[in-house]
Amino acid sequence: MHTDYIDLGTISEVEREYAMEEAGEIIRRGGLVAFPTETVYGLGADGMNPDACARIYEAKGRPSDNPLILHIVDMKQVDEIAREVSPDARKIMEEFWPGPLTVILPKKETVPSRATGGLDTVAIRMPSHPDAREFIRKSRRIIAAPSANVSGKPSPTLAEHVYEDMKGRIPMILDGGAVGIGIESTIVDMTGDCPVILRPGYISKEDIADVIGQAELDPAIAGRERQEGIVAKAPGMKYRHYAPKGQMILVEGKTENVIRKINELTQNKQTQGYRVGIIATDDTLSQYPTGIIKSIGSREHTETVAANLYRVLREMDESGAEYIYSESFFTEPMGDAIMNRMLKAAGYRVISADEA
Ligand code: AMP
Ligand code: MG
Repeated sequence: MHTDYIDLGTISEVEREYAMEEAGEIIRRGGLVAFPTETVYGLGADGMNPDACARIYEAKGRPSDNPLILHIVDMKQVDEIAREVSPDARKIMEEFWPGPLTVILPKKETVPSRATGGLDTVAIRMPSHPDAREFIRKSRRIIAAPSANVSGKPSPTLAEHVYEDMKGRIPMILDGGAVGIGIESTIVDMTGDCPVILRPGYISKEDIADVIGQAELDPAIAGRERQEGIVAKAPGMKYRHYAPKGQMILVEGKTENVIRKINELTQNKQTQGYRVGIIATDDTLSQYPTGIIKSIGSREHTETVAANLYRVLREMDESGAEYIYSESFFTEPMGDAIMNRMLKAAGYRVISADEA
């Protein structure tokens, strides 16, 4: 299959109009289009068409029990797919939409089970990215989409990542440049008495509690250890996502200790002949004398760490690093969300640099 790659940043208004029309046409015919959102790139299909949804699973190599998120542009569309919307659910949708929040609600019969992995609930989000909104509107459909990576790879934060993974598998990629946030949406389950965060993201538990008075973290994602024996409520959270090919280890502690420890570990592995990658920050970059060193952002602005995280993990794979030592970021804002992804990538291997 030929993959049309459309650079939305360089084309004229008329060409853009034409490309968006074409993208909508692909969707209405049951095909797939990758598109930018404010979180990560999505791989979209007509959410009400089971065959179209099935193509998403095929293109990604995604397990069929891992449901998709339904993307909308208009509040009215919620009632087309949700059976019941509690007043609290309405409140947070009104507060955080359009934006990086996915809300889980009981699903209507009309939503194909192919889109929800067989669950009787549905995940709904209204993205804020202008390209995503125009694409969804032009399609005149509700767009089912997971992240546009091949299953098991980091989510794409650049259209180039999508091209790497999806070239020849889908008919169109819309390139809207680098995404803003860089990690996936916060998922909150609104089907019970208390809202439960199933996946941490840019919008925090506190942000949600500020609006509706309460919110909990799913026990399966709370804490720094892998929670053995607890099944995550978001099916996607149970898979060992985003793991780089090399063995990744997080080193935590006081910054000067972390640097010393990472240098020690690096030299040790290099002596044994391994290729070692180091995930540093702008502030610490110059203090690592050897290794494949990449900055993930600035400690003072952890939102830059979120924005660069998946790109750096992909680059570590490309560099052939067999061991990857990374600084850690148990800090706000977005510390939960960042560390949730980093802990998974590292298979929950964390070393403390402060212990003697
Ligand atoms: P992705 O955007 O690629 O991360 O995929 C969508 C995510 O939404 C996956 O992690 C799913 O597990 C989650 N999700 C979608 N629908 C539901 C649902 N009904 N209940 C819980 N989690 C869901
Ligand atoms: Mg994904």
